[in-house]
Amino acid sequence: MHLELFDILRCPYCGGRLELVTSLPHRAASDRIHDGILGCHCCIFPVVDGIPVLHLQPSAITAREHVEAGRFPLALRTMIGVDDAAQAEQFEATAANAQSTYRDVVAAMGPNFEGGYFLYRFSDPTFIVANAVVRAVASTVLHGTRRAIDICGGSGHLTRSLMDLSTPAPVLADLFFPKVWLARRFTAPGCAPVCCDGNAPMPFVKGAFGYAMCSDAFQYIWTKRQFVGEMSRLVDDAKAGGAIVINHTHNQLTWSPSHGQPLAPAGYRDLFEQLTPHIYGEAGLFGDVVDHGRVDLSRADSEDALNSDPALTLVASANDAVFRAHAVTKPEGLEREFRINPLYAIEQRGDTAELTLTFPDSAYEDEYGACRRYLPERASVRLADLDALARGERPSAATDLLERRVILELPVNYY
Ligand SMILES: [Zn+2]
Repeated sequence: MHLELFDILRCPYCGGRLELVTSLPHRAASDRIHDGILGCHCCIFPVVDGIPVLHLQPSAITAREHVEAGRFPLALRTMIGVDDAAQAEQFEATAANAQSTYRDVVAAMGPNFEGGYFLYRFSDPTFIVANAVVRAVASTVLHGTRRAIDICGGSGHLTRSLMDLSTPAPVLADLFFPKVWLARRFTAPGCAPVCCDGNAPMPFVKGAFGYAMCSDAFQYIWTKRQFVGEMSRLVDDAKAGGAIVINHTHNQLTWSPSHGQPLAPAGYRDLFEQLTPHIYGEAGLFGDVVDHGRVDLSRADSEDALNSDPALTLVASANDAVFRAHAVTKPEGLEREFRINPLYAIEQRGDTAELTLTFPDSAYEDEYGACRRYLPERASVRLADLDALARGERPSAATDLLERRVILELPVNYY
């Protein structure tokens, strides 16, 4: 962790400033802490492989004991969750190899790590909508001079969408250490990862951010009222121009394969005490993005439309410029690779790759089948165009395939 993070980090339990306990074992270099113990008024927390772990779950306690004894590699094994020695060695060998991909590392983390459909994340309908909303709102309120936080941001797919909008680089906060570790290495290099509990007060000082978000996770938070209160506290100028965004939270009035503890639209509205949130059904936003290449935050969905939509988006801000139509934009200046969308099976015929849309299983198709609105059943691409993309050129024949997300801009070494 960079030392400047101390300016905004606070203990989640006593609110005190944190500092490195220099009398205990630590590894630090100039402006960064690699491993060590942080102390506040009430307790101590470990920094493991550069990531502060600011909660008191059993893995964090064990990792702290390892760090206190100078056993830094064992602290990392504990936080990654590779307890079995053979699994741990496989993880460490894969992590040490600079050529390893995100997919390789996920596989090496073993069966304890829930990899899910991460491979397909950058083209799934939930991501398409969230990315558009996130970039629309964050670019409006941050002006390149304020910082964003992605809470419960998992392995950082949407944190990546904030990289060129947030200054300093966005904070990625999640309870699950392996995911923020993966995000820092692959998905959102340069972000500031923090491991903390979304059901506890957030370990940051009031007003540290201009934009706070939570995507596809809010329904799993039990302390929802506290969570929204904390987002408001972190963006303490939400009334003056910052913004709070909750993407893809499930609707209690509809069925979902992975429900969590969702609320109805009226319940979500009541969580907000300082600002009245705008609530959108995801279906309307999805239509905006797919059919018009924009996201219209001036839309006012009817109560019926909200009550019948399985997923909702909430945006709270006093900045009226947020609530208008925004063109969908892509992050600029990130290191990336152009690759064929992994949802396509590839068959090479002569100098052409023939592509066929192929879902990993029926559960994926059930949940994300709406991607058919933009992903064609079949496509073909000249191998020469793929080679040009690999060199970083953008042949005109590939423009449409990029637009349709048949070819994707992915993080380097993603799969
Ligand atoms: Zn404390």
